[in-house]
Amino acid sequence: MSRITMTTPLVEMDGDEMTRIIWQYIKDELILPYVDLKTEYYDLGLKHRDETDDKVTVDSANATKKYRVAVKCATITPNAARVKEYDLKEMWKSPNGTIRAILDGTVFRAPILVKGIEPYVKNWVKPITIARHAYGDVYKATEMKIPGPGKAELVYTAEDGTQTRETIFDFKSVGIIQGMHNLNSSIESFARSCFNYALATKQDVWFSSKDTISKKYDHTFKDIFEEIFNSEYKARFEELGLTYFYTLIDDAVARVIRSEGGYIWACKNYDGDVMSDMLATAFGSLAMMTSVLVSPDGCFEFEAAHGTVQRHYYNHLAGKPTSTNPIATIFAWTGALAKRGELDGNKELSEFARKLEKATIDTVESGKMTGDLVAISTLENKEKLETLDFIKAIRSTLDGLPH
Ligand code: NAP
Ligand code: MG
Repeated sequence: MSRITMTTPLVEMDGDEMTRIIWQYIKDELILPYVDLKTEYYDLGLKHRDETDDKVTVDSANATKKYRVAVKCATITPNAARVKEYDLKEMWKSPNGTIRAILDGTVFRAPILVKGIEPYVKNWVKPITIARHAYGDVYKATEMKIPGPGKAELVYTAEDGTQTRETIFDFKSVGIIQGMHNLNSSIESFARSCFNYALATKQDVWFSSKDTISKKYDHTFKDIFEEIFNSEYKARFEELGLTYFYTLIDDAVARVIRSEGGYIWACKNYDGDVMSDMLATAFGSLAMMTSVLVSPDGCFEFEAAHGTVQRHYYNHLAGKPTSTNPIATIFAWTGALAKRGELDGNKELSEFARKLEKATIDTVESGKMTGDLVAISTLENKEKLETLDFIKAIRSTLDGLPH
């Protein structure tokens, strides 16, 4: 059988531990036999990040700017224990944080739905995609414990020395305060990423905040979204029959629960942090969540939402069988291949990606799955497979699909 050819490379970001093992299995079994794969390879495994003083991470992000599509394996974000385990020169920053900062992107997370893994909310028949603003607010806040009576103020000193003040509170007793910020430029990028992703996936956008209470801070988010939508996106949304709407976060929560899914829910940083974990759990499994970083100028980096599955990796190293779910990593590859195909006008490549997704879902729906899914699937004929056996089962389903 002749393999599908590619014109432009994908940026391939390899990673760590069990997901690195799965990465190679997926390439060997599900991609290389079918696609004459062209990638520009970056090894983001922790050892190589350390050897290159983390330059490899920066290089991979810059390559993503150049080629516009990347696929990333889960990577270790070092903590003190990892510094010791890998004898690191430094506690390197999170690669995802570094890449996001360079691409100025927004992360979109969406569940993969399969029969037998039912969302806790019965009316959710389509995925709900969360877009989390990944800059500022409480994550870059300055806080103070107020020891006793006294006045706390917000003070802004302009470059020419003029000051603007607002009283936060006249304390009569001990308490706490917090100061946080955001940037219009960051909110604008966030809005553009959301609207671009909506056009790319043909979904509506909902945006929610608390502008009735936060009349300057949250209201600025609301205004920026509205301005950018009206001036840059409205016509294209109308052409595709898509809508953008803003609502209060409390109203949004109620609507999300009653909805059937199938839209992008844009959230401020903290709301997105909390709501994405809630949605992942409610849809059934973190191992079934995909994640894509979209830059405001339309670069895409696809990955799984879960980590490197460390516990399984140690079992693998000890020669014990593992049953680690590769589905989110497979969908990172298919997302990237489909996007590459779309950008290059390579229909065959995009169709292959969709076929591999179908083969993956069909395999689980036929009862063959990894241990994490066996534990939650309502199918009766379910069977637990080891990691590589499950990937091979997908390959055999794929080979059985009509060409
Ligand atoms: P994790 O790798 O997501 O795994 C947490 C637990 O969730 C696993 O022990 C496993 O449960 C279950 N799980 C997650 N993915 C699974 C899969 N594909 N198949 C089956 N079970 C799965 O999170 P972590 O253990 O907190 O983090 C490990 C490393 O990953 C850390 O070094 C962290 O820095 C990194 N991390 C990277 C990313 C990223 O690159 N995007 C994201 C998050 C974390 P059982 O052990 O009970 O089977
Ligand atoms: Mg969280």
